[in-house]
Amino acid sequence: MDKQGILSSLPSVDEVLKSERGVQWQGAFPRCYVVRAIREVIEAQRKAILAGNSGETSGEVLLDRIGDRARELSEFSLRPVINATGVVIHTNLGRAVLSEETMRHVTRVACSYSNLEYDLGQGRRGKRYSHVQRLLRDITGAEDALVVNNNAAAVFVSLNTLAKGREVIVSRGELVEIGGSFRIPEVMSNSGAVLREVGTTNKTHGYDYERAIGDQTALLLKVHQSNFRISGFAETPSIESLVAIGRQRGVPVMFDLGSGCLFDLRPFGVHIEPTVQEVVKSGADLVTFSGDKLLGGPQAGVIVGKAAHIDRISRNPLLRAVRVDKLTLSAFEATLRQYLEPEKAREAIPVLRLLLQDPEEIRSRARRLSTLLKKRLDSSGAETVEIRVIRDVSQAGGGSLPEVPFDTFAVALKPRQPSGLSVKDLEGRLRRNRPPIIARIKEDWLLLDLRTLSQRDFDPLVDGVKAALAVT
Ligand SMILES: *Cc1c(COP(=O)(O)O)cnc(C)c1O
Repeated sequence: MDKQGILSSLPSVDEVLKSERGVQWQGAFPRCYVVRAIREVIEAQRKAILAGNSGETSGEVLLDRIGDRARELSEFSLRPVINATGVVIHTNLGRAVLSEETMRHVTRVACSYSNLEYDLGQGRRGKRYSHVQRLLRDITGAEDALVVNNNAAAVFVSLNTLAKGREVIVSRGELVEIGGSFRIPEVMSNSGAVLREVGTTNKTHGYDYERAIGDQTALLLKVHQSNFRISGFAETPSIESLVAIGRQRGVPVMFDLGSGCLFDLRPFGVHIEPTVQEVVKSGADLVTFSGDKLLGGPQAGVIVGKAAHIDRISRNPLLRAVRVDKLTLSAFEATLRQYLEPEKAREAIPVLRLLLQDPEEIRSRARRLSTLLKKRLDSSGAETVEIRVIRDVSQAGGGSLPEVPFDTFAVALKPRQPSGLSVKDLEGRLRRNRPPIIARIKEDWLLLDLRTLSQRDFDPLVDGVKAALAVT
């Protein structure tokens, strides 16, 4: 057949819609996406024919493509993935995982009216922030607290309230960027505060702050270095010594803690992070931290500290622009309540549970997954991949605990030659799997880190690996 002949043999959109599969798709997917999928696939085929490279595409293959495309268009964009990276607080993968118990409370609140801004005792307008204020005071020991959308907003609104048009003194070693676009100097200038840098990259002393304090000073700011460390010949004053300087000179001190650990990890051998409670006790006037890093709650930013400062911030009109919604507040309240009994928090809060796992437990899960994979890959599958259990280290992530290595175990996969797959191909295929499986590559191996994998991930994981290794 000539090109025209082939072209005219292509079905029309209407014909496909009325065909058996067309009707099926319309039952399974929104009609608009079925129509779009048909148009796209037919159009692509028309172009291929005109370009002379349509090959021998059968009608069946075209229909399969349409079905795949309709399904793809209809899928949720934001959806669950299997985190096989071992990074517990992975910003790209949604940071903290919430517990089912927490989400049951969120559902109850969200699917009903609530007292979000209604004072049930007085029968009049109440404050949304009140729902977590007492918990935050009780847990951190701070005089007062406020919750906003994220920690960037917490820092921003605090600086805007306390230091607009005035100077904020920060060590040069703490002018950090935290992934994406949170850069201390930029947040500072956008908030209207004037950055006054002191010290050097590696060393800043108490006297550097003292010398910089003047009429224009509004605040001394300490920033957690989060995702990096300067080691060797390095020094910055402790929060205690900054507080002492601030007291003596009448300047408030704020600590952007970033992660905001409410649970003391030191008894478990994790030595670095001061808890929020300790920083509050040190006398810092304001402390800011995230809700969804080590705290293990929903995305939120917390400001705790002296009541007079919190009161000023709560009257800043900008607060409205960064206010938290009821879903966040209900998830946050449910998470915070777990901290009232720290022994329970350790088990009930997924972030803490995942970080504090016994490596031996991780090892035995790795062995189980490896055995299951070997069993479920038939003999031809087994020839295409080498499978091992290896010891490795995983990260807390989210800029938390950057230096703390967490011993872990992974199932390591290496495609063998007959498969024709590289380790990168395998990584890509798993990533495009349903559900997506996100793994990391180390040297020539693809690692499935068992720290962030549970038993219920095993079936989809094995299916995903099988599908990825299948020759196409
Ligand atoms: C993570 C982090 C932030 C930003 O917090 P978000 O909750 O992501 O907005 C700010 N400061 C520090 C020190 C951080 O570690």
